[in-house]
Amino acid sequence: MLAKPVLKFSTLVELLHKRAFDQSDRTAYTFLEDGNTEAGHLTYHQLWRRAQSIAAQLQSLTATGSRALLLYPQGLEFIAAFCGCLYAGVIAIPAPPPDPTRLKRTLPRLEAIALNAGATLVLTTSHLMTQLEENSSQIKEFPADHWLCTDKITEELAQEWQQPEISSDTLAYLQYTSGSTSTPKGVMVSHGNLMHHATSLQKACEYTSDSITVTWMPYFHDYGLVQGMILPLYTGTPCYLMSPFSFIRRPFHWLLAISRYRATHSQAPNFAYDQCIRRITASQRTQLNLSSWQAAGNAAEPINPLVVQEFIETFAPCGFRAEAFAPAYGLAEATLLVSSSPISSPPVYCTLEAASLEKNRVVEATEPQEMVRTIPGCGRLVGDTKVVIANPDNLTQCEPDEVGEIWVSDPSVALGYWQRNEETEKTFRAQLRDTQEEPFLRTGDLGFIKDGELFVTGRIKDLIIILGRNYYPQDIEFTVERSHNAIRPNGGAAFSVEVNGEERLIIVQEIERGQLRNLDTDEAIESIRQAVAQEHELPVYAIVLIKGGSIPKTSSGKIQRRACQSAFLSGTLDVVAQWMSNLNGVC
Ligand code: ATP
Ligand code: MG
Repeated sequence: MLAKPVLKFSTLVELLHKRAFDQSDRTAYTFLEDGNTEAGHLTYHQLWRRAQSIAAQLQSLTATGSRALLLYPQGLEFIAAFCGCLYAGVIAIPAPPPDPTRLKRTLPRLEAIALNAGATLVLTTSHLMTQLEENSSQIKEFPADHWLCTDKITEELAQEWQQPEISSDTLAYLQYTSGSTSTPKGVMVSHGNLMHHATSLQKACEYTSDSITVTWMPYFHDYGLVQGMILPLYTGTPCYLMSPFSFIRRPFHWLLAISRYRATHSQAPNFAYDQCIRRITASQRTQLNLSSWQAAGNAAEPINPLVVQEFIETFAPCGFRAEAFAPAYGLAEATLLVSSSPISSPPVYCTLEAASLEKNRVVEATEPQEMVRTIPGCGRLVGDTKVVIANPDNLTQCEPDEVGEIWVSDPSVALGYWQRNEETEKTFRAQLRDTQEEPFLRTGDLGFIKDGELFVTGRIKDLIIILGRNYYPQDIEFTVERSHNAIRPNGGAAFSVEVNGEERLIIVQEIERGQLRNLDTDEAIESIRQAVAQEHELPVYAIVLIKGGSIPKTSSGKIQRRACQSAFLSGTLDVVAQWMSNLNGVC
């Protein structure tokens, strides 16, 4: 049975009011310390009171429409502060909390966000504030008028809260993009976008009144915020949350929480499923019962079909069902998801002739051939989303057998980028030249639709074009990953640089920390070269092996290929060994 269709709410404020009265003492969120121990709960009523008291304090400090940067470790205080902002009519900006021990590295990107957003407030916890003050005087120069520790705000203040004038058109929050391809941009998400998207996701992800969510996805990322925090609130179903660090430290705790709480919905990017395969031991697997898991969402980065298959096989003895795997595709500009797989069908794949794909053609491989590419389906379009596949150069609709840019039209598509009119115009208001249809969101991603299923092949900006053929970096990176056992998974980047007027392939790859000492670098480089030549018929121009943990990544763990290319060109990579084809040997 689908959860009772909730009334149409125009804002999150209305939604929380409703929950606070209808489900007053039910636990909405439970925080799992270290991913394992229950360390705090928030009922709907408590959340409502906390939101109102934080809002009252904000209203005494700032005007409606001001921006507040939210710097919180994963936890209940973030949820209260986020709702508090919305209750005050203040625009929330979830952002990764700075690491107090690495402020030089983590503070500048937050300063850039605060400046771009014109944030007047920073909200945080007193614990993090003390740590920040102890570690640096830099914090005093942070571009904001007030720092506020929301955990110090007393609940009595709630009485002073005043209903702000907000509607579905009011901006709820700015979601900064991950920064995979360029500086993060502030996506303007309105209450209307959020409520519309929540309705679509409730249906697409088949939430019922019995659904239970477990999440470790960071709340400063759209995947964590919308699916891991808003959706449980929207559907009035419980959510168990843990920190991303708990997951990274012990992936087992993620699956253990799903087992223990009989969770139905839990999502993570591809790399997390890979970590589970690699790091959860056979004896730990005997403690898991994953039979309750109905929707194992997988989005935010390219999905690797082999990881999907291996996860299904590895965890089938724990009760995990193939149908539970739910590949999806989305981006901050669309609030979250564009497509998602139904919970009743196993993942689907499309096996294409590699040579045709390199020419942007969708030709299914019929004969068992050597050179094929398997593209995982990312599900069906959520809600009433409309998608067209467009030629990114001439802006006309593609033929059904052509790969093109994914263009999206839906009320969930956000209002634009904060303070970036030109990019907003280009990205959010695209028009099809042949039919004049508009406005569309240009996603910058390539793909195709087949039998109603959306297939995502990769990003336009990351495409490697050599001799007129298109290569997707993630395919090459995956080949590299499997070519030698010293290679660190999810730690490589493939990109091209121009050499004498021609694009050449460069591979930068991290080496596992524990393997460095005894590594035969010549052998590792040779394995990579051979594997890429064999799988992709591509000569590699340069291979750079670098220290584990040193590749440029976003705060949500995505590889920044462009930043990697710049570091390669400026010689600032943390090199272990490198090889270049024109030097004819390892240097
Ligand atoms: P930036 O826009 O700052 O460069 P970003 O695009 O990584 O960063 P997000 O909005 O967090 O920022 O991520 C959305 C992107 O993630 C999509 O545009 C797409 O490139 C990628 N992505 C999401 N889901 C999938 C998927 N299932 N398969 C392949 N790529 C995906
Ligand atoms: Mg993007």
